[in-house]
Amino acid sequence: MTTSPTPSTPTEPGAAARAFLSRGPLQLLIDGVHRPASSGATLPTRDPSTGEVLAELAAGDRVDVDLAVAAARAAFEGPWRTWSPYERQALLNRVGRVLDEHFDELVELESLDMGAPVARLLGSRPALQKMLAFFAAQALTISGETLLNGVPGDVATMTLKAPVGVVGGIIPWNGPLNGQFWIVGAVLASGCTAVLKPSEEASLTVLRVAELLLEAGVPAGVVNVVTGWGAQAGQALADHPDVDRIAFTGSTETGRSIIRSSTGNIKKLQLELGGKSADIVCADADLDRAVPGAAMGVFANSGQICFAGTRVLVQRPVVEEFTERLLAYVDGLRVGRGLDAGVDLGPVVSRTQLDRVLDYVRIGRAEGAQLLRGGGRVGGDLENGYFVEPCVFGEVTNSMRIAREEVFGPVLSILPFDDVEEAITIANDSDYGLAGAVWSQSLSTALQVVRGVHTGTMWVNCYGLIDPLVGFSGTKLSGYGAKGTAAHMDTYLYTKSVYLQL
Ligand code: NAD
Repeated sequence: MTTSPTPSTPTEPGAAARAFLSRGPLQLLIDGVHRPASSGATLPTRDPSTGEVLAELAAGDRVDVDLAVAAARAAFEGPWRTWSPYERQALLNRVGRVLDEHFDELVELESLDMGAPVARLLGSRPALQKMLAFFAAQALTISGETLLNGVPGDVATMTLKAPVGVVGGIIPWNGPLNGQFWIVGAVLASGCTAVLKPSEEASLTVLRVAELLLEAGVPAGVVNVVTGWGAQAGQALADHPDVDRIAFTGSTETGRSIIRSSTGNIKKLQLELGGKSADIVCADADLDRAVPGAAMGVFANSGQICFAGTRVLVQRPVVEEFTERLLAYVDGLRVGRGLDAGVDLGPVVSRTQLDRVLDYVRIGRAEGAQLLRGGGRVGGDLENGYFVEPCVFGEVTNSMRIAREEVFGPVLSILPFDDVEEAITIANDSDYGLAGAVWSQSLSTALQVVRGVHTGTMWVNCYGLIDPLVGFSGTKLSGYGAKGTAAHMDTYLYTKSVYLQL
């Protein structure tokens, strides 16, 4: 690992991002209007590269959530209800254009807020545009069925697809810029409305995007944002009796709490939770591709990716060569401030997350795993930030905590295996079922693994590709509910069966 050479004056955000941050306490956005939290409370959001406070956020609570849900309900029952599919499609297209115009500013805000390198974030521009194109297309596909004389007697019948109503979107910190569009895109395409509760660690791009949505012509009240603590604003949204559906991405523990909260008014749920994915490298893999693929399957976003392939299962004949090449690759990774050029890994998002990751490194060592690289806090110019050296453990067994629990940091474990059956058994010996991959030049070996591993997503000779047309979802403790494909839209709609006596 190298640390990025710090320029004599550190890279600074551009004027637009600075203007946003210099507004003073950042307010809630309810019914198209900025307002402070009703209690007046704020919470600090920090730059994880320096530990310094970037901005104060309004710390919304139950009162603010009530206001936002009331605004979302009123918008749902208002003229928005009568927008045609073509109008909603045109709106999504306008949103795509406005976001594209402001993308650099959004990237700077996201990088400052949660630490991701700008190069990585800039690379996500096509993915965001694709997502908007996907939802714009979905807006035209919502339809039911008609059966004339389908029922005995002179009865015509039809089924209508109706938007479910007010959606509570609870968002994590590890990629809110793009991540929020799994919710916002579906809301705009379906005719629902939303109250978004971004993470207290990374709310900036959700707040800024909500303003840009208004600029693009999204009616006031259709997308509202309440920032605040999970246990207050998040809990209030999950409990709220007038919220029809919750789309939640976050930890399995919070997911459980949301399931409990949903029982009051039987909310529909979509839960995208944690993971401990197995990345299986077979002896016949093309290591030129498998080594960087497996490395960045963990170290991208400093390991803060739900589908990170943190358990790298390597077939014994190539363990030594794979490990050697992986370590050489890791030695070439540059750690630095997200805004600086040429950085591969930024900091982890918070002091809490830093402590958690360093703790897991200690746990791994205590359990007898062999620390091959990194795992320490980065010092020097970066000592005030929450930087962790990319960490590789060898000799890991699947019973160790670092192989069973989600670290959510740049910690990669190598687990040797003998044959593919054993790899499948190890991969499945996990509470999670989010994703996984296999690297092999044999199609039949690859398909054997794809068939055998119980996860929502599998990659073959690649890692981390996600397309809304193909989808991404989990099973087991990784949650449920489709993300992407037409099934995603279905969860924002309900079916109304109509019987018409003629
Ligand atoms: P988290 O569960 O702590 O927080 C997620 C969101 O839930 C935040 O907005 C938080 O404020 C809110 N929240 C916290 N407590 C709440 C409560 N009691 N009621 C309602 N809302 C509450 O997760 P995190 O630390 O922000 O994100 C990391 C986790 O997210 C990891 O486990 C990761 O695997 C998971 N994740 C999953 C996916 C996926 O697609 N499966 C994607 C990204 C992240």
